[in-house]
Amino acid sequence: MKPSVSFRTFGCRLNQLETEAIAAAFETAGFGTAPFGSGSLVTVLNTCTVTGKAEQKARREIRAALRGNPAGLVLVTGCYAEVEGEALAALGERAVVVPGSAKDLVLDLASRLAEAAEHGLDPVDEARAALASASGHARDPFAFRPASFAFHARPALKVQDGCDNACTYCRVRIARGRAVSLPVAEALARARALAASGAAEIVLTGVNLSQYHDPGTGADFAALLEALLAGTDGVAYRISSWEPDRVDGGFARAFSNPRVRAHVHLALQSGCDATLGRMARPYRTDRVREAVALLRGARPGFFLGVDLILGFPGETDAEFAETLALLDELRPAWIHAFPYSPRPGTRAALMPGKVPERVAGERVALVMERARAWRADYARSRVGSETELVLEGIEGSPDVEDGLGAPDRAVAAGPGAGEAGAAGGATGSRTGTSDEFLGVLVEGLPPELDRPGVAVRVSILEALPGGEGLGAPDLRGRFVAPTRSDPLLSAPGVLPL
Ligand code: SF4
Repeated sequence: MKPSVSFRTFGCRLNQLETEAIAAAFETAGFGTAPFGSGSLVTVLNTCTVTGKAEQKARREIRAALRGNPAGLVLVTGCYAEVEGEALAALGERAVVVPGSAKDLVLDLASRLAEAAEHGLDPVDEARAALASASGHARDPFAFRPASFAFHARPALKVQDGCDNACTYCRVRIARGRAVSLPVAEALARARALAASGAAEIVLTGVNLSQYHDPGTGADFAALLEALLAGTDGVAYRISSWEPDRVDGGFARAFSNPRVRAHVHLALQSGCDATLGRMARPYRTDRVREAVALLRGARPGFFLGVDLILGFPGETDAEFAETLALLDELRPAWIHAFPYSPRPGTRAALMPGKVPERVAGERVALVMERARAWRADYARSRVGSETELVLEGIEGSPDVEDGLGAPDRAVAAGPGAGEAGAAGGATGSRTGTSDEFLGVLVEGLPPELDRPGVAVRVSILEALPGGEGLGAPDLRGRFVAPTRSDPLLSAPGVLPL
C-alpha cells in the first residue's frame, strides 16, 4: 500500500506553486495523494501570513489534521510558519514546523518519509531527525520546479522571491526576506522544459516580480520576459501581479507582445495619497493613472485587476471617497479588496486611528458591488470577439484556501445544461484538453449576471481533439465558462489577446 499524503495551501500563487513541487516530490517518492482531511499518513500545510483570517484558518486546519490521524505527521511550512513557528509547533506533538525560508527541505524529506513508512518507522521522528541534520545547509528558494502540476492546469514558474520594500502593513517581506531572482538563463531553461511538456501558458510568479533583477546580466523583468518570448515558441506568458510604480516603457513594450496575456493585476492598495503615504507605498495616485494609461496604450482593452486594502488606520470617509473616485476613473475589470488586518510586528499595527471592522467591511462591500458592474462591463466589451480559451477543471474540487490569489477555474458543461448547470457545478463534464487552446467566439452574458463572478457564453469554433472528457462532437456548440474567483482570468482565451 502506498503511504498517503495530503496538502492544504493558503495564500498566493507562489505558495501554490511551491506546494505543487512538494506534491511532485512526494509522488516521486512513492506516496499517493489523498484528499485533505482523509487522515493521511503525512499532511502538508503551506501557510500564509497576509491576514489574520488566513492564520486563523491554518490553525484550525492544523488541529483538524492532527485529529484526523493520531499516528500521522503534520508538516507545517510557509510564511506563517516562518514568523510564528513556535506557536504552530505548540498546537500538537505530531506537528513539525519547517520555517518558510527552509521550505525546500520538505522536497528532500519526501523520500526519507517514504523509506520510514516502508519500515514502519514513526514519521514524526524521521522528520525531526532529517530537519536537525539539515540545519545550516544553504537554502535554495528556487528549488521548486515541478515537472507536473497536480492541482493546476496552467503551470507557474517562480522567477523571484522576497521584497525590498517596507510597506507598513506587510508581514510578507518579514517572512520571505530580501528580493532574490532566478537568473535569466535558468528561467529560460525551465520555461522551455514546461513548454516541451505541453504547457500552453506559463504564469510567471514571485513575491514582487517588479523587483526582478538578474545580478549576472543586469536584466530586469522586462528583459527577462523578452528573453523568454524570444527563447520559446508558441507558449503564452501571464504576469501574476505587478506594482504601479514599476510600469515603465520597457514593461509596456514587453506587455504589448501578443504572447503575453493582456492581463495585469496591480497591487494598488489604496486610491488616496494620504493613505498610500501611511502605507509607505512607493507611489501616489498620479503615478497610478500614468501607469494604467501606459498599459492601455500598449494593450487597449486589457484586463485590469487591482488589490485593495480598505479600513487602513486613519482612513477617513473622505479618504475612502478618494479611493472610490480613482476606481471610478480606472474601472478595473476585477477587484480583490479586503479589510485591513493588523499584522504583528508591522508599523501599521501600532498606528492610531483604528477603523471599526464594521466600517471596513462596509467599504469592502461597496467596492465589490461596483466591481461587479465593472466586471460585467468588461465582459460585455468582449462580446462578438473571437479568442482562445483554456478549459481547466470542474468546479467544486477542493484545492486551496482563499488567501491572495485564489485559484481560478473554468467549468465546461454539456449543451443546454450550461447556464444553470455550470452555476451549480457542472455534472458529466470534466477537463478536456486543459493545456490546449480552444478557439471560441464570445457571444454574450447569461441572465444570472449578478451572482458572484461573471459568466460569458461562448461557442466553440473548432472541434475538440477526440480527447477524453468533453467529448468533441456534442460540445461543438455552446457552453458557459463561469469561474469561482475570477471569470475572465481563468479563461485566458476570453481575456483580450
Ligand atoms: S511590495 Fe510591500 S506589500 Fe508587497 S511584499 Fe513588498 S513590502 Fe509587502
